[in-house]
Amino acid sequence: MKIFTTREALQKHLQQARAAHKTIGLVPTMGALHQGHVSLIKQAQACNDEIICSIFVNPTQFNDPKDLEKYPRTIEADIQMLEQANCDILFSPDEKEMYDGNEQWHLDIGGLENLLEGKFRPGHYQGVTQIVYKLFSLVKPDTAFFGQKDYQQFLVISKMVELLSLPVKLVMCPIKREPDGLAMSSRNIHLTPDDRQHALTLSKTLDWIEGNFDAGNITGLKRNAELMIGNEPGIELEYFEIADGDTLLPAVEDSKKVVALVAARAGKTRLIDNVILSLKP
Ligand code: AMP
Repeated sequence: MKIFTTREALQKHLQQARAAHKTIGLVPTMGALHQGHVSLIKQAQACNDEIICSIFVNPTQFNDPKDLEKYPRTIEADIQMLEQANCDILFSPDEKEMYDGNEQWHLDIGGLENLLEGKFRPGHYQGVTQIVYKLFSLVKPDTAFFGQKDYQQFLVISKMVELLSLPVKLVMCPIKREPDGLAMSSRNIHLTPDDRQHALTLSKTLDWIEGNFDAGNITGLKRNAELMIGNEPGIELEYFEIADGDTLLPAVEDSKKVVALVAARAGKTRLIDNVILSLKP
């Protein structure tokens, strides 16, 4: 695997790849890689010739400096995992390489960035669109791969691509889970054994919602889910929403796609999860 830390070196390499008519797949990450990230690399390999994984803990998407400071950084293990997965290129720039000044700009994508995650993490998606726009401009990937785990992030990036007519295809990959159902996350290493046990209420509640989904009873289902999670010790619910899968506004009976999304703190660790409930043709 080739490792680049500067934009210039990466671009030079990409020119050669393009001259050889290779298609390029991009998997943006913040590192502390797990099998969820690897599943994105595998999906990318099935669709493109040359795969770039980026690892960059993007400061502008953290609204809490303490959260940024304690975000796990495990670059040696990440390199090993990417090599095992036969990833072609790792791009791991430092902060100066990606932000060369006091950048204040952000994209207004019309409100989606202020709902749910955006409400609890003000400015989060402004940071996400900033870094993803920079990565897309640099790499010019044919395809970029993101996880359903960050469902709202996928919608926000799709909106950006649509509004700016960016020439990239986006692919959403399914959520990888631990055998007991917990959604894999870089943040899971912060969970104490007790937190981890209590955190299972998120995937269990989403399973229950999926098993009992009834588009005519969205309010009742949501209330039950909030009670299930609210009654779990050690868990502080931030939101549980049964939302329209395109707008993320509360779902209505004839929403074409419905998604249940949850965010909660298990001890000191913030977790998110979701399930797609229905997809009408
Ligand atoms: P992150 O490093 O957390 O920013 O995630 C990088 C990419 O991996 C994002 O597109 C995430 O949605 C995706 N991802 C994170 N966790 C999972 C998971 N459990 N299953 C599938 N994809 C995931």
